[in-house]
Parts: sequence; structure tokens; C-alpha cells
Amino acid sequence: MSRSESLFQAAQAHIPGGVNSPVRAFKGVGGTPVFFKRGEGPFLFDEDDRRYIDYIGSWGPMLLGHAYPPVIDAVRAALDNGLGFGAPTAIETDMADLVCELVPSMDMVRMVSSGTEATMSAIRLARGFTGRDKIVKFEGCYHGHSDSLLVKAGSGALTLGEPNSPGVPAALAEHTITLNFNDIDNVRATFAEIGDQVACIIVEPVAGNMNCILPKEGFLEGLRDVCDQYGSVLIFDEVMTGFRVALGGAQEMFNVKPDLTTLGKIIGGGLPVGAFGGKREIMEHIAPLGPVYQAGTLSGNPLAMAAGLAMLTALKEDGIHESLSAKTEYLTQGLEVMAKRHGIPFTTSAAGGMFGLFFTDKDVVSSFADATACDTEMFGKFFHGMLDEGIYLAPSAFEAGFVSDAHSEAELDATLAAADRVFATLAG
Ligand code: PMP
Repeated sequence: MSRSESLFQAAQAHIPGGVNSPVRAFKGVGGTPVFFKRGEGPFLFDEDDRRYIDYIGSWGPMLLGHAYPPVIDAVRAALDNGLGFGAPTAIETDMADLVCELVPSMDMVRMVSSGTEATMSAIRLARGFTGRDKIVKFEGCYHGHSDSLLVKAGSGALTLGEPNSPGVPAALAEHTITLNFNDIDNVRATFAEIGDQVACIIVEPVAGNMNCILPKEGFLEGLRDVCDQYGSVLIFDEVMTGFRVALGGAQEMFNVKPDLTTLGKIIGGGLPVGAFGGKREIMEHIAPLGPVYQAGTLSGNPLAMAAGLAMLTALKEDGIHESLSAKTEYLTQGLEVMAKRHGIPFTTSAAGGMFGLFFTDKDVVSSFADATACDTEMFGKFFHGMLDEGIYLAPSAFEAGFVSDAHSEAELDATLAAADRVFATLAG
């Protein structure tokens, strides 16, 4: 028995399903989750000392690779001063200044401790600001697990086939209207009926929780128009795309400015951090300036701020995004060539350091329906074949993959060579 197998058995005694977040349980692909003890650059090392090339990057934060020395050093330096004070610190202002400098639409920002908190708070703010209850989201987009947003959600909820969770009161869920991603006519028609009741549209500008789906030309611009027309708040959930698809996130890449933005993952460099922010006149409604309540004992924690600030500073100074996009495309294009060689119906998507793998005969996957029609059984076989080859992909056909700046040509080529062998076995 491997250490992962025995650790997974032991974990199940006191942890539900043996994991602290459902997608880690490998339910979507079967088998035993790998237990890791160390990460370095593009690699993870499991409890049996086996090395993997990692394409999850802690689900996004490790844009510069695992144990990135400037981030580790910054946390070490902060550590000796104590772990938290629940009072203002200078580094919070440095962080807020930098985030507002890098993200085009943000005038003010409030730190929280997870992406879920960020989106939950942004929604409350949008409701408080507009005095309206209804919110619009898109099927297959995931914005964390708060009640209003766990309706037709993506990510682990979709992987487990439970996009609507028991425990979410129907009276609350009825205020969440779910529309089709990339279908602006659907949005316009809905707003024509009830637009004046809608507090906000929340959207992943590149959907990363039903695999990885890029916005069609005009979709994000259309959302901006509709929100302007009906006085609704446009929220870009950039928890995944922020600082990853471009330094200024998807709003910079697609040149559409939301009213509010939610951030997470990279902003904490691997520690638990999220943030929401945006236009000054909306953010001024948050307590203590305004009446919309939001708070957090651990918000702006000094270790988390030190990690995040080191991470964002490195991104700003190093200008990695062009080479990151090139690496991601080298990988996805290479995978398409390999699959074609073996006659496997397969396509990919890519945005900056984010990618999607689809077992389908479509060239482009642009909707929830397209994504859920892909061959998940084939994905499971591919996943396990790659895992045996020492390549660690997301254990679900409904998650994006992540490339880091630490992935060099050697790791990308090794991944393509492994995929060539795995596609061959799938074809045979
Ligand atoms: N929004 C998006 C777009 C996400 O991808 C996620 C998590 N994958 C969240 C929100 C929730 O973040 P967290 O898991 O930190 O609560």
C-alpha cells in the first residue's frame, strides 16, 4: 500500500471524505488522492517521494512556482513580528495601493480571507448599493460556496453532480437567476423583463470552473452595456483570472471595466487571502464608511499580506505574462497535435496561464452545454495515465489547469511526451 493510500484511509476517520475540500477526493476521476509533502518550482513531491510536474498550482496561487523564494522570505521576515494583531498595519496600505495600481477598475479594496468571502461580500455590497435583491449568475460558473451563489454552480459542485446544494433556503435561491454563459441574447431578454430588480451580474470573465471557457467576442462588453442600461452592478469574479491571464486580470485582457472585482488565490501567494473592490462610490457603502456590514478578524493578516505583496511585486517587476501565455499555448497546441496523431477527439483552450482540456469533436467549447457534453470517462483515463507518468492534472473534467512561470521547456516537453504515450493507450 502506498503512503497516500494509508493516509487517505486514516484521514477518513475524522475528516468527511478524508478531505477538507471536495474536489481533492478524486470523486470525478476515481482512485486515491495523492498526499503531498513538499513543492518546489513546477514540482510536487508526494509522501512516497515521487515527483510530479504540477498543473494545479494549489488551484491557482502558485503562478511563480511552489515555494517561490521571495514569497517564502517575505513570510519568514514577517513571522518574527507576530502572527496577527487585529489592528491596522502599514503593509495593508501597501497592498491596497498596489492592487489598485495593477487592476484597472479598482479605486478601493477590502481584504478578506478567501474567494468565497470576497464574492459573498461583493454581492451584499451590490444589493445594499442598489437596494435590489436579485442577482444574475451563469450556469457552470463557481463563485465560492455562499448560499446565494451555490445555485447551478461549477467546480466541485458540478464534479459531484450537486450544482444546487441542500441547505440553501429556497427563499434565498429564488433571488439567484442563472443564465447561459456566452449567451448575451439570453441576458438582454431577461433584463428586458426584470432588469430593474437586478442588483448585479456576477461572472467569471474566463470561466474556469466548468473546464476553461473563454468569453465570446462581445459577451463581456454586452454585460457592461446591460448593467449600464439597467443600473445594475457588474462584478467580475477574478479570483482565478486575476494577475494570471494578464497582470491586470481579464478586465485588462478584454478591456472591459467592471464596477466591482473579486480577487483571491494569487493575491495571497498561497496563504488564505481574498479581496473585493472597485468604484469608490460603491465601495464607500461598506462599513465603517457606509451601512453595508462586512468584517473579518483575520482580514489583512500580516503574514498573508507579506506573502501577497511579495507575489504581486514580483509579478509587476518581472513581466512574466507574455512568456506565461507562450508556455501555456506551447503545451495546449502540443497536446492537440499528439491527440490528433492518435485519432483522439480532443481540443483545448488557453488564456494567459490558464488552460482547458476537452475530450470532444468540437473545435471550440464555448458553453456549459458543450463542456458537460465532453467525454468525462475518457478524461478520467487520461488523468490516471498522466498521473502514472508523474503529471499532476486537476482531478476533474470541470476544472481549469494552471501553468506557472517556473515550468520550463523541459517540463512542458516531458508533459507532451507523456501525453503522447497516454493518448496511444487510449487509442489502442
Ligand atoms: N471564485 C472563483 C472564480 C473561484 O475559482 C473560486 C475557487 N476556485 C472561488 C470564487 C472561491 O474561492 P475560495 O475557494 O477561496 O473560497
